[in-house]
Amino acid sequence: MTSPIPCGRFAPSPTGLLHAGSLLAAFGSWLLARHHGGLWRLRIEDVDPPRTVAGAAQAQLQTLAAFGLAHDGPVIWQSARGDAYQAALDRLLADGHAFVCHCSRSDLAATGGIHHRCVARQARADPAVRFRVPADSVVHFEDGLRSRQQQDVHAEVGDFVLRRADGCWAYQLAVVVDDAAQGVNEVVRGADLLDSTARQILLQRALDLPTPRYWHLPLLLDAPGHKLSKSLAALPVEAREPVPVLRRLWELLGQPTSALEGINDRDTLLAAAQHSFTPRLLPHADILLAAGALSAPMLQNPPSPT
Ligand code: GLU
Repeated sequence: MTSPIPCGRFAPSPTGLLHAGSLLAAFGSWLLARHHGGLWRLRIEDVDPPRTVAGAAQAQLQTLAAFGLAHDGPVIWQSARGDAYQAALDRLLADGHAFVCHCSRSDLAATGGIHHRCVARQARADPAVRFRVPADSVVHFEDGLRSRQQQDVHAEVGDFVLRRADGCWAYQLAVVVDDAAQGVNEVVRGADLLDSTARQILLQRALDLPTPRYWHLPLLLDAPGHKLSKSLAALPVEAREPVPVLRRLWELLGQPTSALEGINDRDTLLAAAQHSFTPRLLPHADILLAAGALSAPMLQNPPSPT
């Protein structure tokens, strides 16, 4: 049997401009796919209108293009994928894997927000739909970077939301349906999503979908040790000078600087990087960026979204 073509993806939520941490995940994922001659898909996770920032998705696409991180096939927009999520939800409801839930946040306060059984004091006009996590749901998986991982989803997470009370599709359902629809078999993303992976594996099993291989990259931390994140308004990456930024990201991915020495052209640099990328050199521990590392040329002069 021949192994399938590797297929990676980048799936930003359009909640702001891409910052160094997001671009690190994008570059790491692109490198892993391209190094093995694979495909790289793009998906805009605009499934949460209250968090979506106008113009952010277009700005993210422009940034990726400016860095030369070309994708295969059309960009998927989750806002247009409601029918696919509904079909998956209908199946889960029909199979008894999902149930309608009237519990409010305050109903679940006594159990720390974890849902194990419905305790709603009154029916809601807008109930959520949850995935039922049985008592023996301990999920194990082999992370490409972090070796064996395990989570007791029942104890640590409980029955999780698939469609929210406000009608929005939950990230967990949308990501599982779309990774499968896009043929993704290598997910490279930030370690902040490590905690979601077991839930996604449970959903894949319930929907008879394949489980990709997961690689959770270290997070970039700013000087006080906080994760760089869009919501913390980390400065966006400087897209006008892609070469020094790509070089810096390459180093942050644990790859030898010598492989890219003397290259000043973006596409030549990407070709060399794709060729010499060595997955086993990827770092495991979170990366603390010194104050200086956040200044020119890596992060400066944030362009405003159009
Ligand atoms: N949309 C998520 C984010 O921007 C990433 C989802 C994923 O990689 O699974 O944080």
